[in-house]
Amino acid sequence: MTDQVAPAPSQAVEVETHRYVYLFKEVELAEQYVGGDWEGVRGLLGGKGANLADMTRLDVPVPPGFTVTTEACNVYLDAGDQFPPGMWEQVLAAVTEIEAATGKTFGDAQNPLLISARSGAKFSMPGMMDTVLNIGLNDEVVKGVAALTEDERFAYDSYRRLVQMFGSVVLGVDDHLFEDIIEAQRQKYDVKSDADLPADAWKEMTQTFKEIVRREAGIEFPTQPFDQLKMATEAVFKSWNGKRAIDYRNAAGIAHDLGTAVNIQTMVFGNMGEDSATGVAMSRNASTGENELEGDFLINAQGEDVVAGIRITEPMSTLKSAMPTLYTEFEDIAQKLEGHYHNMQDLEFTIENGHLWLLQTRDGKRTAQAEVRIAVDMVEEGLITKEQAVRRVQPAQVDFFLHPQLDEAAIRATTSFAEGLNVSPGAAVGIVAFDADTAERWAKEDGLKVIMVRPETKPDDVHGMLAAQGILTSRGGRTSHAALVARQFGTPAVVGVSELEIDLISRQMSIGDLVVKEGDWISLDGTTGNVYLGELPTFVPDIKNPYLLKLLTWADEFRELGVWANADYPRDAQRAREYGAEGIGLCRTEHMFFEPERMPIVQQMIMSKNVEDRNEAIDKLLPLQRGDFEGLFKAMDGLPVIIRLIDPPLHEFLPAHDELVKDLADLKIRLQHFDNMAQIERTLDEIQEKQAFLDRVEALKEQNPMLGTRGVRLGILIPELTKMQVRAIFEAAVKVTKAGYDVHPEVMIPLTSHVNELRSQQLTLESVAKDVMAENGIEVNYKFGTMIEIPRAALTADEMAEFAEFFSFGTNDLTQTVFGISRDDAEAGFLVDYIQMGILPENPFATIDPNGVGKLMDMAVKAGRATRPNMEIGICGEHGGDPKSIELCHNIGLNYVSCSPFRVPIARLAAAHAALNSKA
Ligand code: PEP
Ligand code: MG
Repeated sequence: MTDQVAPAPSQAVEVETHRYVYLFKEVELAEQYVGGDWEGVRGLLGGKGANLADMTRLDVPVPPGFTVTTEACNVYLDAGDQFPPGMWEQVLAAVTEIEAATGKTFGDAQNPLLISARSGAKFSMPGMMDTVLNIGLNDEVVKGVAALTEDERFAYDSYRRLVQMFGSVVLGVDDHLFEDIIEAQRQKYDVKSDADLPADAWKEMTQTFKEIVRREAGIEFPTQPFDQLKMATEAVFKSWNGKRAIDYRNAAGIAHDLGTAVNIQTMVFGNMGEDSATGVAMSRNASTGENELEGDFLINAQGEDVVAGIRITEPMSTLKSAMPTLYTEFEDIAQKLEGHYHNMQDLEFTIENGHLWLLQTRDGKRTAQAEVRIAVDMVEEGLITKEQAVRRVQPAQVDFFLHPQLDEAAIRATTSFAEGLNVSPGAAVGIVAFDADTAERWAKEDGLKVIMVRPETKPDDVHGMLAAQGILTSRGGRTSHAALVARQFGTPAVVGVSELEIDLISRQMSIGDLVVKEGDWISLDGTTGNVYLGELPTFVPDIKNPYLLKLLTWADEFRELGVWANADYPRDAQRAREYGAEGIGLCRTEHMFFEPERMPIVQQMIMSKNVEDRNEAIDKLLPLQRGDFEGLFKAMDGLPVIIRLIDPPLHEFLPAHDELVKDLADLKIRLQHFDNMAQIERTLDEIQEKQAFLDRVEALKEQNPMLGTRGVRLGILIPELTKMQVRAIFEAAVKVTKAGYDVHPEVMIPLTSHVNELRSQQLTLESVAKDVMAENGIEVNYKFGTMIEIPRAALTADEMAEFAEFFSFGTNDLTQTVFGISRDDAEAGFLVDYIQMGILPENPFATIDPNGVGKLMDMAVKAGRATRPNMEIGICGEHGGDPKSIELCHNIGLNYVSCSPFRVPIARLAAAHAALNSKA
C-alpha cells in the first residue's frame, strides 16, 4: 500500500531537521527562518509567542518558555491529528532547556516545574481558543508544591484548577459540573470568595473533580506530566477549528488556514499570598485613549479569575498604592514596550512573591475614539509619524464619530435604570434577549433590534453579541470578554452592573422593584455606562472631536483625490463644508420639487393640457429654484457647485397608480350614500381631479421607467424645463456674485447616452446663460458637463468630451446598466442570494465592481482625457463614500469623489489611504 511506503532518505533528513519548536530566547532563529520579517515571525510563532520572544530579547521579565509553531498546528490538523515527525522530540528537548533555566524539573515532586500551554494565533482572537494551566501536577507533585511553598491551600487550589481546566478544555467535560461543586463548597464553608476556601476544601474538590472526569469523559485524569502536556498541546491545536474560533474568524475576517501556535511556559503564581497578584492592563485608556495605565488586578489570584469576572477586580490605581515599587516597574515596562512596538499595549502580568513577571503583550484593542486619540498623541510624543497615524486609523473607525447617540432631551426626561462600566461607546436601543441564540434568532430571522443581556459573556456567546445592537452584563470589568468583543466590533456595551439581578430561569432581570422581562425595550449608552428603560430616541453627533479633526488634516496632506459632497440644500452644503468638503459634486434639483409647497406646481406642470399652462407652472418654479441655488452658492463660496438638471421620470411626482384607483373606488362608494348636495358636488370634483391624475399616470406609464423618459430625455422633450432650470442657476449665480461671493457653477446633464443629446442641451444652456448674463451685465465662469452613467456614454467618452467640460460617474445607474440589474429591486432580491452563494464577491451597489464597472470607468477616463486633456472627472454615485471604491477612483485618476456629507470625513481618510497604498 502506497501510504505505508517509508519516506526517501533525503526527505527523512529534512523532516528530522525541520524546526517546529523555538525557545523564547531563540527569536533570531525564527526570524532567520522566515527571512527576517517580523510579520513572518508573527505568522510562525503567533502574535503571543512572537511578542513573548521579543520581550525576552528586550530584557523584560518573562517566565522561560518556548513556542510550538503554527506550521506544526497546520501539519497536525492536515495529517488527521498527528504531530509532525520530530515535533514531540523537540518539545521534550525544549522542556529540558526550561528546566535548566529555572533549576526545576518537570514532574519532580521535590522541585517541580509547572507549565502552561496557551494558544496564540497570528491575529489575536481573545478567549476563542484553549489554554491549560498548572500542567505537571499530580498526587505526588502536589505534595511537593505544598511542602515547598508551605502553602497547602495554594497547592491544592492549583491542582484542582488543572483537573478542572484539563477536564473541560482537553476532555470536553461541562465546566458547570465543576463550578457547581465550588459553589456548594462556598456555601458549606459560608465564604463569599474562593480565596477564603481552606486547603481541605480544595483537596476534597480535587478528588471530586477527578471523579467527574472519570464519569463524564470515561478516562482517568492523566497523572503523567508529559501525557498532560501532550494532550494539552493537541487540544490547543484542535481548538483552532472549534466552532467559536471559526465563528470569530468569520466575523473578524481572519483567514482559516493560519493555524495557532502553542506557547509552553513556566508557570508563575499570583495566588501565593498577599504579596502576589495578577492582572491585565492597557498602557493607555482603551475607551478614551487617554495616556494612563488602565486595567484590573486581583491580589492572591490566578489570571483567569480576572478575565472571567468571577471576583470583583481592583483598578490599577489601587496597585499603585498597594505595591508602589512594582507599579513603577510595571509602568516603565509598559512604556518601554510602547516605545518598541510604537503602539498601545495590552499586558498580562503576575506578581509572584513580590516579583513582577510579564506573561503577554500585544497591541491593545481599543475604541475608535481611543484609536484616533492615541494615533494623534503618539505623533506628538514622537513615537510614530503622521503617515503611520493616518494609516493606523481605518476609515470605518471614523464612522464612530457619526454613530447614533441617545437624545439628550430624552435622557433628561427619564432616569437611568442602572449604571455600569462604559466599555464601548455609542447608543443601542433594542429588546432584551437573555441568551446568545435568542439574540441571534430575533435579530437575524425576525429582523428585531436586540440588546443581549448576560451575567457575563463567554466565547460561546459571540454569535449573539455580533447580532445584537448592544451588550449588557452584570459582571466583568473593562477587560472582560464582553468589553473586548464589543469594542472590537464597535457594538455599544455596558458591563459590570453589579446590582442587576438576572434570572435566567424566569427570564427577567431586576434592580430592586424594577423588573425587565425578556422582550422588553431598553436603551443603553455605552459612552456613559447608563441603561434606561424603554426605547429612547437617538441622534447622530457632530464630529467636533479635536483629535479626529487633526488626524483628518494630516490625511488631507497625503491624499490626492478631492473630496466633494452630494448636497441639495444649503444646510447640507454647510455641514458638508464643515466636514471638509471641497465642492458640491451633485445637487439633485428634483429633490427640491418634492417639497410640499412645490408639489402642486410640479403637478400642475405635468398635468397641463397645453404649452401655455405648462410654461405658467414652470415660471412659478423659477423663483423657488433660484432661491435654492442662491443658498447653495453662498454656502459654497469659492468652491465648485455641480447642479444637475432634472432626472427622474415625471410620474414620480404624481400619486401612485394603485392609490389613485383605490381612492377613486372609495369616493364612488361614498357618493352613493350622500344626500347633501354640497357633499355630492365636492365629491364629484374630487373624483374628476383624481380621474385626471389617473389618466395622466396611465399616459406616462412605462414598463421600465428607470430606462424610460427621464434624465436628459426629459430636458430634450420639455425644453422649457431645461431653460427654467438654467435660468434659475444663472440668475442665482449673477445675484450672489453681485453680493460679493465667488461662484463656480457647473451644470450637469443626467443620463446621457449620445453626444447629440449634449450638443442639443449645450445650445439651450448657452443661449439662456448668455441672456441672463447680458441682462445683468455680469460674466460668470461656468462649466458644462455630463454624468457618465450609461455604458454607451462611457464607451463614447471621447465624443462626449468634445462638448462636456467635465464628467461625473453616476455609478448607481452605471452599475444598474452594466450589470442589467434593477437598482431598486436587486438588493431585496436575488442579489442577496448571489452574494451569499459567492457568485458575486461583493454587493456591486456598495463597492464598485472593479472588473466590469471599474474597467469601463477607466476606459472612459482615458477616452475623455484623450479628447480633453486634464478634464475634471469625479464620481457622485453612492460608491463615492465607500473606501474600497475610493481606492479604485484614486487608481484610475479621478480628480475627486463626491459622497453624502456624513461620509466626507471617512472619504478624506480613505483617499489618504489610497494615495499611501499606491505609493507603497
Ligand atoms: C447615479 O446614478 O449614480 C447618480 C448619482 O444619480 P442618481 O442616483 O440620482 O440616479
Ligand atoms: Mg443616476
